[in-house]
Order: sequence, then C-alpha cells, then structure tokens
Amino acid sequence: MIRKFLQKVFRRKNAASDSAAALVIIPSKRHGIRRQQITPCALKIATQIQQAGFSAYIVGGAVRDLLLGLTPKDFDIATSATPEEVRKIFRRSRIIGRRFRLVHVMCGAETVEVSTFRGPLPDNEDTLSMQLTDQHGRLLHDNVFGSQEEDAIRRDFTINAMFYDPVKEEILDYLNGYADIKTKRLRIIGDPIQRYREDPVRMLRAVRLASKLGLQIEDKTAAPIGDLAPLLQNVPPSRLFDEMLKLLLSGHALSCVVELRARGLHHGLLPMLDVILEQPLGERFITLALKNTDARILENKPVSPSFLFAILLWHEVLSCWNALKAAGEKPLPALFNASDKILSIQNKKLAIPRRFDAIIQEIWMMQPRFEVRAGRKPFRLLTHPRFRAAYDFMLLRCESGELDTELGEWWRVFLSANDNEREKMLSSQISPKRGRRRRSRKKAASNLVASPENALNTSNS
Ligand code: ATP
Ligand code: MG
Repeated sequence: MIRKFLQKVFRRKNAASDSAAALVIIPSKRHGIRRQQITPCALKIATQIQQAGFSAYIVGGAVRDLLLGLTPKDFDIATSATPEEVRKIFRRSRIIGRRFRLVHVMCGAETVEVSTFRGPLPDNEDTLSMQLTDQHGRLLHDNVFGSQEEDAIRRDFTINAMFYDPVKEEILDYLNGYADIKTKRLRIIGDPIQRYREDPVRMLRAVRLASKLGLQIEDKTAAPIGDLAPLLQNVPPSRLFDEMLKLLLSGHALSCVVELRARGLHHGLLPMLDVILEQPLGERFITLALKNTDARILENKPVSPSFLFAILLWHEVLSCWNALKAAGEKPLPALFNASDKILSIQNKKLAIPRRFDAIIQEIWMMQPRFEVRAGRKPFRLLTHPRFRAAYDFMLLRCESGELDTELGEWWRVFLSANDNEREKMLSSQISPKRGRRRRSRKKAASNLVASPENALNTSNS
C-alpha cells in the first residue's frame, strides 16, 4: 500500500531525464562475457527467479569487472521480484537491511545479494518531510521499488548500471555504460550535486573506482567534489570506515589516498593526513607502507586493517608522544596516552571498530620494546602474538628514515638466527658495545619525526 502511495506522490526526478538514454541491448558476440564466467550459485539463483516468472539479472560491479577483463569480487542480482517474493523462492535466504532492504540468498559457502529494482525518489521538499532524507539531502530510506530502467538511473555511475541476463547472455544498457567502459570514463548518473547530496559516499566511490580501474573521472562528475566534501561529516562513521577499508584494500591504496587528498576528501576521514603528509618523514612512511600494501594485495597476500590504520596514524601518535615526554611524562605511559588520544580524535570522524583499536594500540606499544636488545626481553618479544605486525611496522620505521637502519638489520639477523647465535648476539650487546648501542639509540632518537616543540607547532598549524 505504502509503495503505491509513494509512487503516486513521487514525481520523476530531473536525474532521470538528464541521463536517460535509449535502451541498448548488447549481444554476447559483441560484449564477450560468457555464462561460465558467472559463479554457479549466482547463475542458479538468477535462473530460478526467472523460472518463477520474474526478471533477474547480474548487475553492477560484476558486469563492469567482467567487461574490463577482471574477476568480480561478488555477483549481485537485481530483480523485479519483491524481497518477500524472493524469500519465498529460496529456503536458505533472509531479508536484511533497513535503509535498503534486500535478500541474502545462501548457496553453498556463497551468499548472493538479490535486490529489487529501486524506483525514483520524490522531490527534495517531499523527501525531507517524509523523512526519506536528512536536511542535507542524504538518503535515509531507499525502499521504493520501480522498473528496471528506474533502477539503472538510481545507481551511482553509468559503468555500474548495466544488467547481464545470464539466460539470454545479453547486456541491457540504459545509460551508455558500455561506451564509457570502452573509453575508460567514470560518469555519474544524473545531476552530480544532487547525487552526492543523496549519498556523499559516492564521492569516495568515484575516487576508488577511478584509481582501481584506471578510469578518468569525467569533468562534470569531478567538479563538485571539492565543494561537497564536507558532506561526508554527516555520514555515519561506521559506513565511512567500511568505505575507507575498501579503498585501502583496493590494491591501489597509494593512488587513492593521494587522490583523496588532492580532492579535499580526506578531512572527514583521516583528519590528520595533511599534517602527516606535510612532514617528509611522515610522507615517506605512509608512501612506503601503502606501496607495500598494494603489492601484497596484488599478490593475494593478506593485509591487516589494524596494521594499515596503525600506519596512517603513527606519525600523529609520534608527535603527541614526543610532546608528552617533553612535558615530563615517562616514555611508556606517554606512548599509551598519546595513542589513546589520537585514536579517540580519529574515532569521532571514522569509527574504527574496537577489535581493530586494540590491535593498533598493541602494535604501537610494542615499538619501544624493539630498542631493548639485552637480557630475555627480545626473546619474550618474539613470542608476542602481534610480533610479526609490530616487527614489520618497525622495519618500515627504519626504511622511512625514522629509526636507524641498524636496528632493523639487527632484528632481521636475530630473527633468522638459531638460539645459540641469538644468545651470542644478546651478550655482545651488553658490556663492551654498550656505549655504541647507546650512541646508535641516540642517533635514532634524533631521527624522530620532529622535536616536541615542532610537533606541537605543526599540529596546531
Ligand atoms: P566493488 O564490489 O568492487 O566494491 P561495486 O560497484 O560492485 O564495486 P558494491 O558496493 O558491491 O560496489 O555495489 C554494487 C552496485 O550497487 C554498484 O555497482 C552500483 O550499481 C550500486 N551502488 C553501490 N553503492 C551505491 C551508491 N552509493 N549509490 C548508488 N548506487 C550504488
Ligand atoms: Mg560488488
């Protein structure tokens, strides 16, 4: 009933007329996607929905990635069936979401997202009074169903709005997405300002997709981003965190972070990025770390989100730590307090889930322990469950010039040595070479990012 009411009230938006194009049906011999490239689960689910009398298509990122010759992360399905109707077809399924209701259909170990075609939104005044959006135009509810064409128009970019029918093996393209893929162009659907207002995360998606897929963001799509960047402040911090993580784990984290900063999108995500990147050591540290991360992702190696956030925030922690020490706090409590402070500033903007917070803090708190190279302590450090992450972190600090490379080298040798050799290394560190060790520590300390005073000045600027 509500659906009928809304559809009666709603007027078609300019967004639709702006971008609507004639439907183009692209046959398989032209687009080249074969049914076998779809996972058996997604294929089975789409076919079953069609057999039940509805339409069902593979949609969005999967079609885009297949056209670009990439392997899709997952396969989403769009259908004319309502969530309840889909739910009835599949025993192993459940309806999820409030803002955007859809069905998760389970098939073996795979879960396929099935969403009903979305319909048009009402005009601005209506959306606010009906509490569909907030006062900035951000969409709070999105459960108005519509036709396939309307669904295409509601998607974010033209390259994400194509439908692949796995039975007929055709692509249905309402918005020239196919041509944009071929010319490597990222184009938002409809009026860019209105679309970013509805969902400011689309600005982040533009940066991520362009970097990841090597696309040029069309001028009209890029133009309002700088001005509208502050709208990210109204997005729930947990959603920002998810999006930020996608960006950092995209395999193109470095270019994404550089682009975010160039477009002024980082203020609401990593408020301290400017300060960090303006210091040569901070910039070197983050650049090295993100390059490493990208290389790991491209080799299919795991990357820990905690490690990444520990990296991104480290130089801010370092400045704060130095300032607290200069104010008379003892080194370890000072480090603990500095890390607490930086995490709480960061969490106001972008909520890092607690489970990551704890690991980030452990990685930081272990850093001073690498500088103790005597007695049993190095052995104890080796057995710490976070040793590997903290060790990699310390190596990056050395490589970026923050710490003496000799420290990293010592640990590299210590790690590959057997127990006897380790004992020898430790005893040689005590008495005769003590002076030398002290000197090298002193040198390392002088390499720290900035003096406490400078650190304070930079944070305030
Ligand atoms: P990837 O999976 O590589 O992150 P994707 O485009 O598949 O990219 P999803 O988050 O899986 O991203 O979204 C699936 C599809 O849903 C998109 O291709 C797009 O059509 C639509 N979509 C996602 N986010 C938005 C949004 N913020 N506004 C409008 N449409 C969106
Ligand atoms: Mg996807």
